[in-house]
Amino acid sequence: MPAPVIGITPDITRESAAHGLTNRLLLNLDYAEAIAHAGGIPVVLPPVLEPARFLESLDGILLTGGGDIAPHRYGAPTIHPATYGISDVRDEFEIALVHAALNADVPLLAICRGMQVLNVALGGTLIQHIPDEIDGALNHRQQELGIPSGEPAHPVTIRPDSLLARIVGTTHLMVNSYHHQAVAELASPLLPTATAPDGVVEAAEIPGATFVLAVQWHPERLFQHYPAHHALFAALIEAAQSRAARRATVVEKK
Ligand code: MN
Repeated sequence: MPAPVIGITPDITRESAAHGLTNRLLLNLDYAEAIAHAGGIPVVLPPVLEPARFLESLDGILLTGGGDIAPHRYGAPTIHPATYGISDVRDEFEIALVHAALNADVPLLAICRGMQVLNVALGGTLIQHIPDEIDGALNHRQQELGIPSGEPAHPVTIRPDSLLARIVGTTHLMVNSYHHQAVAELASPLLPTATAPDGVVEAAEIPGATFVLAVQWHPERLFQHYPAHHALFAALIEAAQSRAARRATVVEKK
């Protein structure tokens, strides 16, 4: 069986280097480590081709965390002062990648910003800054609570009949939390499948798709010590397996 190839979306930065200002890709290595640990081949997707072109060579997609999505993309007329890290190139590439992946039924795991990108691509909206919009909200930035990276920070309640519940094997899960934005209106056909105690949507999926799963937390920082979080990557790889086998057959015929 060929190992599934999983495309990972990087962040894009503009930095000064010895030869002047340059555009660079940036990726926290733990995303790639989580894919490799689950049996996939991680590859990074630079935004230099139409996203659909990449799909011919991929069996699954991992949308990663990062800066905020430009608010105009979900119809918000103003930008909250806490908004940071907007990249038009990244927004455009990832939104187009979501559409291409859904059209081709390519398995997709969306993490943190990735969940927000998935929702916005489908016409949903975001809460721009949780503390301003949810009374009595938890602090979803665990770094401000002194909770170490790689440790869970708050519980989520999971919908029992969901793909997520089947994967993690429970309806109550502790998750980490590094976000100040969240889903506001969840776009159809996404189904909310986990919520924090303050009502923040923490996971979503598309019933009937081969595999479209989104989580607001960061399983790539938990997978080494918490089997339920490793299981998310394992489920992506398993879902990508049949596409990998199919692609191998097509290559043999050529
Ligand atoms: Mn959270």
